[in-house]
Amino acid sequence: PSDSNLITATLFPGDGIGPEIAESVKQVFKVADVPIEWEEQFVGTEVDPRTQSFLTLENLESVRRNRVGLKGPMATPVGKGHRSLNLTLRKELGLYANVRPCYSLPGYKTKYDDVDLITIRENTEGEYSGLEHQVVRGVVESIKIITRQASLRVAEYAFHYAKTHGRQRVSAIHKANIMQKTDGLFLKCCQEVAEKYPEITYEEVVIDNCCMMLVKNPALFDVLVMPNLYGDIISDLCAGLIGGLGLTPSCNIGEDGIALAEAVHGSAPDIAGKNLANPTALLLSAVTMLRHLDLHEKADRIQDAVLKTIAEGKYRTGDLGGNSTTTDFTKAICDHI
Ligand code: NAD
Repeated sequence: PSDSNLITATLFPGDGIGPEIAESVKQVFKVADVPIEWEEQFVGTEVDPRTQSFLTLENLESVRRNRVGLKGPMATPVGKGHRSLNLTLRKELGLYANVRPCYSLPGYKTKYDDVDLITIRENTEGEYSGLEHQVVRGVVESIKIITRQASLRVAEYAFHYAKTHGRQRVSAIHKANIMQKTDGLFLKCCQEVAEKYPEITYEEVVIDNCCMMLVKNPALFDVLVMPNLYGDIISDLCAGLIGGLGLTPSCNIGEDGIALAEAVHGSAPDIAGKNLANPTALLLSAVTMLRHLDLHEKADRIQDAVLKTIAEGKYRTGDLGGNSTTTDFTKAICDHI
């Protein structure tokens, strides 16, 4: 039986470097005295017939029950007859928005030092609806689905996020000049929601122009909301602006207020088990989870300690040009806390 003041959160350590960086989060949370009790979940080694996936029904029920969780990277098992782990999670938990904060890390030099933006990606439909087929030999077709329901839901989340996080502007990213019906509907939904938030400036930016503006001057943007495919690409572009995949966190928002935070990167099989992984992305993802729970003081403390450790430059992992191990870097963060 646990302390009633503790919040139970699901933790998937995941594959490859996952368990190493999850261990780092556990240590940091312990030192920072975060009132969270982890319920660890391990993906099955065989397909669960109830889910048609390596994710078991118990895995999914854990997140549904706790409504909050942290997920390490999951390698997609090779073979047929099962659904991708990430797709199963998204579908079964209705994870409709992927939120990625992206800001310049003080002391870690990149071409830009003033990035501070949030990308919000519609996570369930658009070009990733999985509807592709061959029409006749040599001709294939892929169907892009945009619904009013999913567009309103993600737009509503973007404006609510902007309002509750002190953000001034929401930019809807689109290609409605060509995709008039699909992106047109997405924009219409964003406009409808924008009317309910007169205090937030709303603008619409064509995707190609958006890419040019982002690499020229990322400070032009604040909160960006967009359909699935654009979000996939733009959020990686933004990760590149601040130093790469080892640093960027994300949080998936689902139905009934579920929040499942995860690092953007994969299981990094090339460095797995070698104590070389950078835990920053998973730590900052865990910080987004704390903010979702309104544990802002703990979130600030951990975020500050991570940023200070990177800024000092004494302990950095290989991907940031240093030669610290995951454990040394984690210890430095704990010392700061
Ligand atoms: P990857 O992100 O695992 O690795 C790309 C490169 O970045 C590698 O060189 C790796 O060493 C490096 N890297 C990634 N994270 C790092 C970290 N925290 N610290 C230091 N270096 C880091 O991408 P991949 O190699 O294309 O994918 C490997 C596996 O991960 C695949 O099975 C893929 O399906 C899976 N994957 C899962 C997720 C997820 O669970 N959300 C996301 C992407 C890929």
